[in-house]
Amino acid sequence: MHLELQEVTKSFRLEGEDLPILRGISLNIQEGEFVALMGPSGSGKTTLMNILGLLDRPNSGEYRMDQREVGQLSVEQRARLRSRALGYVFQNFNLIPRETALANVETPLMYQGLASRERYRRAMEALERVGMNNRAKHLPSQLSGGQQQRVAIARALAGGAKILLADEPTGALDTRTGLQIMALFEALNRENHTLIMVTHDPDIAQHARRIVHMRDGRIRSEEAVTQPLQAERLLAEMPQET
Ligand code: ADP
Ligand code: MG
Repeated sequence: MHLELQEVTKSFRLEGEDLPILRGISLNIQEGEFVALMGPSGSGKTTLMNILGLLDRPNSGEYRMDQREVGQLSVEQRARLRSRALGYVFQNFNLIPRETALANVETPLMYQGLASRERYRRAMEALERVGMNNRAKHLPSQLSGGQQQRVAIARALAGGAKILLADEPTGALDTRTGLQIMALFEALNRENHTLIMVTHDPDIAQHARRIVHMRDGRIRSEEAVTQPLQAERLLAEMPQET
């Protein structure tokens, strides 16, 4: 799916006043792209991700997915489109603590009205894709951070999403584990998943093919990454753990 934002604005009402957060964002993301979004805290990155992910609506401007205007869809329409097209990954994984890895991946599939057998099949397939099928019955607390993030990625994929939105996905992980997650993202990108990733870490941003810099609710600059870093290679070069 091709994503196109045109002059998108968003403000929040705070103590009776409109606080502008996005001040006219125009951005095109092609199917299969890998884009990193950077910018100081408070510059509007998460707000932009929420709009791209159909969790929030712009105040003005347009948002088109494959030419179709989606910015002003109803809550139900957005929820339906979201569950099939978009997957989210967060810094702190956001897994439900009392549910197994499998249940965490399966539960969102309920919104698609799938039979339980089909939910199970898809959830196991997604867990296998991220190398976590042998941990399906574990609770999040029984998994490492990197493993929890893998489960969260499986949850994002299980509904069939081809677009993944990741807000600081390596922010809570050590360098090696972060690189392992990047290796997984890169593999998904090679399979033509579109990746949009917020990061504070310039080294992590270098894994994307394009970096968009935000500031004060605007896109300040964009750069193409001519030679993206490859996580598998960096991992192979790292000293082994003792
Ligand atoms: P970033 O992710 O770049 O740090 P955000 O998009 O989270 O920035 O937030 C930008 C600004 O918008 C922040 O100052 C934040 O306090 C404000 N903000 C975000 N969400 C809301 C909200 N629901 N209501 C009021 N203000 C908000
Ligand atoms: Mg943020």
